[in-house]
Amino acid sequence: MGEYMILVVLEHDGQRLRKGALEAISRARQLSALGAIAGVVIGENTQAVAQEAAQYLSTVYAAEVGPYTPEKWAEAAYAAAQKSGARVVVASGGRQSRTWTARLAYKMKAGLLEDTLETSTDGQHIIGVRYSFLNRVTEKQKAALPVVFTAKPNTTPLAEPAGSSGVVEALEVGRPPTVEVLERLSEQKKGVSLTEATVVVTGGRGLGSPEAFAGVEELASTLGAAVGATRAVVDAGWRPYSEQVGQTGKTVQPNLYIALAVSGAVQHQAGMNKSKYIVAVNKDAEAPIFKIADYGIVGDVHQVLPALIDAAKKL
Ligand code: FAD
Repeated sequence: MGEYMILVVLEHDGQRLRKGALEAISRARQLSALGAIAGVVIGENTQAVAQEAAQYLSTVYAAEVGPYTPEKWAEAAYAAAQKSGARVVVASGGRQSRTWTARLAYKMKAGLLEDTLETSTDGQHIIGVRYSFLNRVTEKQKAALPVVFTAKPNTTPLAEPAGSSGVVEALEVGRPPTVEVLERLSEQKKGVSLTEATVVVTGGRGLGSPEAFAGVEELASTLGAAVGATRAVVDAGWRPYSEQVGQTGKTVQPNLYIALAVSGAVQHQAGMNKSKYIVAVNKDAEAPIFKIADYGIVGDVHQVLPALIDAAKKL
C-alpha cells in the first residue's frame, strides 16, 4: 500500500489533459485534509500526458493499456488505487466515466457518487451534492470511505499547476480484459467541444430545414461557440446525435446558451437549464423556453438570426 489517500483518474485526448481532468484535480485538492493526492493517466500515449499531469500532482501513474474499454479503465484505476493506497477516487463525470466507475466501485467495495456538483468530507465520509429529477431537485448524499465519485463537468474551477514537478511511474495492469474491441468508429468532431464550450448556440425544429443551420453555424463560429441541436432536429436527421442537448443527449453548462427556435421541452431543459445566461429566440411568446430564459426575443428566427450574426461580428 502506498501513501496516498486520493487518486484522480485524469481524462485526456491522447495528447493533453482534458478540462475535466483539471476540474477533477481541483475537487481532489478540496479534500486534501484527507491526505495526499496521486493521479493516473490510462490509455494510449500515457507517458507524455502523465508528464503534463506531473505539473499538478506529486505522483502520476501511467497505465498504458491501449484503446478505451470500460473493463480496462476500471482495472487500471483499481491497480492505481491499490498501488497508491487511495481510499477516494475522483474522475470527471460524463458518458465515458459512467461506464467504468461502477465497475471500479464494485472492485474497491466503495460507495459511488456520480456527477456531483460539490463535495466535502468529515474525515470518514464523502458528502456529495447532485441534481436529481431532470435537474429540478438537488440532493445531498453521504458515502462512507472508500468512495469513488465523479465531478459533473463545468462545475469546478480548473486546477492551477502545483509549482513543482512530480514523478511519473509506469503502472503494470494485471488481468487482461475479457472483452476485446474489434473496431472503433469515432465521431468526426469539428469546432468547439459541446460539453466544454463556454458558449453554445442551439437550433430547434422551428428553423425549418437542415440548410437553416448554416446560420446557426455562422453565429457559433463568430462567437467561438459549439453548435447544439434538439432531439427533434436530430431525429429528423438534420444534425448528428453528438450535438443533441438534453435528457437523452449531452448536458451543457456554458456561460451563454442561445436557443434558436427551440420550444424548451422539459427533456431539452434537462441538458441546459443550468447555463449561466440563456437567450431564446422564438416566434411564440408562450414557448416554455421563455420561462427559463434570461433574455428573450419574440420573433421570426429567419429575421432575428441574421441580425444576431451581424451584431456578433461587430463584437
Ligand atoms: P418543437 O417542439 O417543434 O419546437 C419548435 C419551436 O420553434 C416552437 O416553439 C416554435 O414556436 C418555434 N418556431 C417555429 N418556427 C419559428 C420561426 N420561424 N421563428 C422562431 N421560432 C419558431 N429533446 C431534446 O431536445 N433533447 C433530449 O435529450 C430529449 N430527450 C427526450 C427524452 C424523452 C424520453 C422524450 C419523451 C422526449 C425527449 N426529447 C428531447 C424531445 C422533447 O420532448 C421535444 O420534443 C424536443 O425537445 C422538441 O424539439 P424542438 O424544440 O426543436 O421542436
